[in-house]
Amino acid sequence: MDSRSAPHRTAIPVREAQRRIATHVPIGLAAEHVPLADAWGRRLARDVCADQPIPHFRRSGVDGYAVRASDTAGAASGRPAELDVTESIACGQVPQAPIGAGQAARIMTGAPLPEGADAVIMLEQTDAWGVPAADALAAGRVRVGKPAAPGDNVTPAGREAAPGERLLAAGTRVGAGAIAVLAALGHARVAVWRRPRVAVLATGAELLPVAAPSPLAPGRIRDSNSAMLAALARSAGADAELLGPLDDRLDHVLPVVLEALAGGRYDAVLTSGGVSVGDYDVMTELLRHWDGVRLFDKVQMRPGSVTSVGVRDGRLLFALSGNPSACLVGFELLVRPALQQMQGEPAPGPDHRRHDEPPAQAVLEGAPIPGIAFERYVRGRLRLEGGRAYARPAGGNKSSDLISLREAQCLIVVPPGGEGVRPGDLVEVHPIEGALWTP
Ligand code: AMP
Ligand code: MG
Repeated sequence: MDSRSAPHRTAIPVREAQRRIATHVPIGLAAEHVPLADAWGRRLARDVCADQPIPHFRRSGVDGYAVRASDTAGAASGRPAELDVTESIACGQVPQAPIGAGQAARIMTGAPLPEGADAVIMLEQTDAWGVPAADALAAGRVRVGKPAAPGDNVTPAGREAAPGERLLAAGTRVGAGAIAVLAALGHARVAVWRRPRVAVLATGAELLPVAAPSPLAPGRIRDSNSAMLAALARSAGADAELLGPLDDRLDHVLPVVLEALAGGRYDAVLTSGGVSVGDYDVMTELLRHWDGVRLFDKVQMRPGSVTSVGVRDGRLLFALSGNPSACLVGFELLVRPALQQMQGEPAPGPDHRRHDEPPAQAVLEGAPIPGIAFERYVRGRLRLEGGRAYARPAGGNKSSDLISLREAQCLIVVPPGGEGVRPGDLVEVHPIEGALWTP
């Protein structure tokens, strides 16, 4: 416990904060159907199963001649097997006739095998190598210089999947490979979890809109948190709308927050600023006096320990710190998992990662990072060398620092308890924007 905690705030561990949040979030908000081209990056709302065997017909794996393997027994380059050519089967065509004893059919990669054939001899292993199909067909005979075994170069029906087999599980994030599977299975439209919609509201009398011209009056700054939070929300698959900035007055902020939570338009509300113990900390005041539930108002993490979360009408209010980097840490650790859960991802496990995700680790380089009573999340850069990941603290690390955020790729996790971490130590790193290797 941090001795500087205000007595009326009890700091809870990050995992406990995540657990409390997770209990108020559905796993998947609602399913919607989107065109296949728009499914990239979304999470599947339903399992996707094969409705036919894949492939659904027996096909050739090479360009060559479909044969009965037994007809080629003992063939050698000096003593080729000579076979009668029945036809030429191109991709998309169906064979006209079965293969009988002593017969072969010229066949292209991916074309269906004629009945009777149980192997394909590669074109290169015949005397038709380099001979155009029409001439080879006209010749009527082909010489095979090598014996084939049954099954050679034949892809049996159902080799990749049996009918009914689950190929993509609900909750899977759709990448390019999954898109190929969906396309092959005929999913012109795909059932995915709908994107969460979040409202972003910056509070602070010092805040000006981004478009405010320079030079700024002393004491005033542009609201950078709203744009950052909207980008982070987007990187987590959500759509964001900006409702602020607003000044620090409860009578201005409260109605906007309540309307955003109750109006049915948003699935969560993210605020920044006003959550400390200062004189104008409007969100602290709001969470103390509103008619919703406060899940917690202090977390054992730095920066962002004052991050507070409430719930009203079944919707979450994330009151993030105003300090830009504390705001980012609050989002990554508490908001992102909730947004992912709304899109069908299971709640994080006890170690705040997805159950199927191993912790990402890197070797610390640069300067040692001192430990403190709380867990620290220090923004860092990452690089790969010789099969290892290396993390180094990025720029200034005061929670009020803004510019060094541009370099942040990850948060370096420093365990609580004071020992800190040193160069050469294996440290846990937490991705920013959902992926470790962002540019
Ligand atoms: P607060 O959490 O309101 O005490 O704010 C902490 C620090 O973050 C102050 O220096 C604020 O000026 C700054 N800050 C608060 N909100 C924003 C914002 N939306 N964009 C950039 N800086 C902010
Ligand atoms: Mg403020």
